[in-house]
Amino acid sequence: MQAPFKALAELCEKLEATTKRLLMIDLVVQFLRSLNAEEIEPAVSMILGRPLPKWSQQTLDVSWATLSEIIKHITNVEWKVFIETFSKTGDIGSATKTVFEESKLKRQTTLFEKSLTITEVRHQLEAIAEAAGCGSREKKERLIEALISAASPLEVKYLVKIFIGEMRTGFHEGLMEQAISKAFQIPLKEVQKASMTLGDIGEVAAIAKKEGRESLLKVGFKVFKPVRLMLAQMANDIAEALKEHGGKTALEYKLDGARIQIHKLSEEVKIFSKRLTDVTASLPEIVEKAKENVRAKEAIFEGEVIAIDNRGYPIPFQHLMRRFKRVHAIEELAEKIPVQLYLFDILYLNGESLIALPYLQRRKILAENSGEIPLTKQIVTDKLEEAEQFLKASVNAGHEGLMAKRIDSPYTPGIRGKHWLKIKPVLEPLDLVIVSAEYGYGRRHDWLSDYYLAARDTETGEYLTVGKTFKGLTDAEIIEMTRRLKELTIKEESRRVVVVPKVVVEVTYNEIQKSPKYKCGMALRFARINRIREDKTPEEADTIQRVREIYEKQFLKKGRYKTS
Ligand code: AMP
Repeated sequence: MQAPFKALAELCEKLEATTKRLLMIDLVVQFLRSLNAEEIEPAVSMILGRPLPKWSQQTLDVSWATLSEIIKHITNVEWKVFIETFSKTGDIGSATKTVFEESKLKRQTTLFEKSLTITEVRHQLEAIAEAAGCGSREKKERLIEALISAASPLEVKYLVKIFIGEMRTGFHEGLMEQAISKAFQIPLKEVQKASMTLGDIGEVAAIAKKEGRESLLKVGFKVFKPVRLMLAQMANDIAEALKEHGGKTALEYKLDGARIQIHKLSEEVKIFSKRLTDVTASLPEIVEKAKENVRAKEAIFEGEVIAIDNRGYPIPFQHLMRRFKRVHAIEELAEKIPVQLYLFDILYLNGESLIALPYLQRRKILAENSGEIPLTKQIVTDKLEEAEQFLKASVNAGHEGLMAKRIDSPYTPGIRGKHWLKIKPVLEPLDLVIVSAEYGYGRRHDWLSDYYLAARDTETGEYLTVGKTFKGLTDAEIIEMTRRLKELTIKEESRRVVVVPKVVVEVTYNEIQKSPKYKCGMALRFARINRIREDKTPEEADTIQRVREIYEKQFLKKGRYKTS
């Protein structure tokens, strides 16, 4: 018999109601034992709030705006019911459940309710993710509507949570590892190790159930099967990274390019992108390089490719992406946009996984096996001053900043932790004026939380948008900002308001890109509000001429891509 989705929703409801970890684990253990093999991975993923397996490159790509429209359409309940419950609980899933219950009461009928199974829900989620191309929006909407209409209010609560990826039951991945260990009687250490290698606890659970402990022990890398990437967190500065890494760290140049994984078996080489898709055909010169330089029979490397101009300086990231998207006339583009490879890690060598080895040891093995292929520039230091100099050198060479890597850290696939920390130089912040704003999604539904940032053109007096951000302000500040912007509103169109340019904010960003998105032809990348400049008037804010100056300055160190 196939497990009903209702059972999963009821389990989550019980998890939400308790904070007792042992009880939570036991509830999940019983549930996992009741499932058949095919249901395990979907169930584990969904309990953790993931609609699809972690390794999947697909996303549902459904916003709360779309979802809420569908809910309104199906239930036909006044939306204030949602808002009221949401303000009480702060939980979108619970508020949606109330709306569905209300709808049922009103109509004295059940919505079309049939018993959904876990497997069916997964298939539907896959179909939603797969809807792409022309007409995909409507197709996605139809599929979502069909799925939600077939569900009970409790099921809808958890479907919505899965859609928006906010489970909030307190049952996290670490507890899931314990539940799997208990449910299938496999020592916790072995579950954790397999989870680390595979980077997907859902897959671990499925192997434990289907094939048992023996197979789990053998979980490892296979050449040509891409490994989940280890990811980095942001550090504010070098001092923070040094402290986090116990006073000493390895610093590498952080190159602004594209991460690739190179797999080699005998004479065959394959390359995978950051999203783990096969991009071998787009990068013929990298394939050649690997073949020429790597003597090992079997290996998996990681590195960064950057695009360079004829002086050897890195050119902006957006041009490099054209190399990845191109599927024909590759040679021609390869000539126009040459790329350079720098390796920074090795995960597997001649049948042995290297990920449990400490960073310094992996780096040594990498150097021994990469032939003439350059490695990312690196120093190991415990001196702040030396580190600051290294950061300067990286930026002066046209790179993005540094990556600090804990010297004794293993490679942890799929995990964004503090073993790797990104350090970017602070670019001079800009004081910009908010010219319009949009209401947010989810929790921020009633707040003007997305801001369009503009700089004044001194020649015309016009405020020209240079970026948009929802980052940087606290909830309290957003609420206050919403109040202020509503008072300044000139016109309102759907969920966007145009305001009198009055509020000045200090904005940090990563770089200024050339962009057709805005009239001024430039756009800030990774903009974030640092603080509200109560002390500045819009006339005192930065001008578009100043933005252009900073934009141009980037090219003194960076290469420039010529379109001619
Ligand atoms: P971010 O994309 O800002 O989260 O930064 C992480 C990315 O930096 C990685 O996924 C790599 O593509 C890139 N990167 C550049 N240089 C390095 C390096 N030396 N070590 C690791 N990642 C690097």
